[in-house]
Amino acid sequence: MAIATVNPATGETVKTFEPFGPDEIERRVARAEAAFRQWRTTDFASRAALLEAAADLLEKEQDEIARTMTTEMGKTLAAATAEAAKCVKAMRWYARNAERLLADELPSAADVADSGGSRAYVRYRPLGVVLAVMPWNFPLWQVVRFAAPALMAGNTGLLKHASNVPQTALYLGDLFRRAGYPDGCFQTLLIGTDAVAGLLRDPRIAAATLTGSEPAGRSVASIAGDEVKKTVLELGGSDPFIVMPSVAGDLDRAVRTAVTARVQNNGQSCIAAKRFIVHRDVYDDFAARFTEAMGALTVGDPMASTTDVGPVATEKGRTDLEDLVADATAHGARVLCGGRRPQELTAGWYYRPTVLSGITGEMRIHREEAFGPVATVYRVDDADQAVRLANDSPFGLSSNVWTHDEDEQRRFVRDIEAGGVYFNGMTASHPAMPFGGVKRSGYGRELSGHGIREFCNVTTVWYG
Ligand code: NAP
Repeated sequence: MAIATVNPATGETVKTFEPFGPDEIERRVARAEAAFRQWRTTDFASRAALLEAAADLLEKEQDEIARTMTTEMGKTLAAATAEAAKCVKAMRWYARNAERLLADELPSAADVADSGGSRAYVRYRPLGVVLAVMPWNFPLWQVVRFAAPALMAGNTGLLKHASNVPQTALYLGDLFRRAGYPDGCFQTLLIGTDAVAGLLRDPRIAAATLTGSEPAGRSVASIAGDEVKKTVLELGGSDPFIVMPSVAGDLDRAVRTAVTARVQNNGQSCIAAKRFIVHRDVYDDFAARFTEAMGALTVGDPMASTTDVGPVATEKGRTDLEDLVADATAHGARVLCGGRRPQELTAGWYYRPTVLSGITGEMRIHREEAFGPVATVYRVDDADQAVRLANDSPFGLSSNVWTHDEDEQRRFVRDIEAGGVYFNGMTASHPAMPFGGVKRSGYGRELSGHGIREFCNVTTVWYG
């Protein structure tokens, strides 16, 4: 894939970039390693001051970088601005909390004595240079949620961003440099996927994190595994959104949230609710109102404040979505709304918000991730069937459950195979909450104390 900004709202190529050659890659890897040797010795206060400075810069520049993101991948300008603000918040959160999250841990005096020692503690030390392979869908957030904790822990970072968001990628490298980070602490590499294996095999790179699709994750993890290097994988999702009868009186809010949960980021979010699993007592009402609300969304120019849903980020992304819908309808799915491109928008990669019912196990959309504004609705008889259906997916990223019944809530927490269970709302990441999945959604966690410790050497210090 060429490294280029191609505006998904028009299909026009705005700017193309030459990938870095081997010499430039070598220079940057060497710089990252040299920077690590010094950066790892700095204290939390000086790291925090730099991260606060980067947050201040980003806050000042958020309108400008939001326009760049919208131009590169088509999210609405409002969503892009909110993404930049969320990054500022996460940077400040890690600047203010990293020292506490990485404080030495003390085993009990009895356990220390039992080990034959006089004193012991656990220290979280940085691992080294971490390679981050990142996707385009939240081009700023995905990177910041890696970079903020990794830098606070004393690691240095190299970013291989998605090929369709080069301007956002370059902005990120520049942001940390302008904030005053020492040369080499965080750098962008403008490279294609063909250069990733060489980096993973480079002894100067200690670990890797990848957010993206399952095939990309498998490739990076298998090479890193061969090199015995730590990885974190944040892959795809097909999160369930379960609606039980106890929320019958709150159905308006459930429907409004369901629509947002599905079409956020033009439907291209790993934690978007994708499969709507509804109890038969509320199914007809929910399905009718959900379909009406999805059909009423305004699809159009992502720069316009009146737009709810912009284009899909790439032409291939839209074709993939169309293929999934065609496969479902060929096997008997019903199109309740959408199911086609908007006729009035001839340029760009738009697709109408779509609701499908009558989904069966033989349809690809039952197992695969729909990465665009396409929802599937299922009718179930009880909580058992809801859990079975929720878990009948290769993915296990997060889940959304609408119920006021506390017994049911306990049951869903116990049984849903996912990295999150969000009740009476929708999954949204927050710096203080761990984020990540199970099954084919990946492994490891980002954010919170769990995220910052992923790229640490958990060191036992013991005195005889
Ligand atoms: P993608 O094709 O896997 O791309 C993600 C990144 O991986 C890009 O930088 C891409 O580079 C690179 N890449 C692709 N194949 C590679 C390979 N064989 N070796 C090394 N690097 C490789 O994913 P996408 O289509 O851009 O993003 C959508 C996917 O990401 C969805 O499945 C979504 O659910 C998932 N996602 C997950 C999370 C999460 O937190 N769990 C968050 C957001 C998105 P190029 O651009 O140069 O190909």
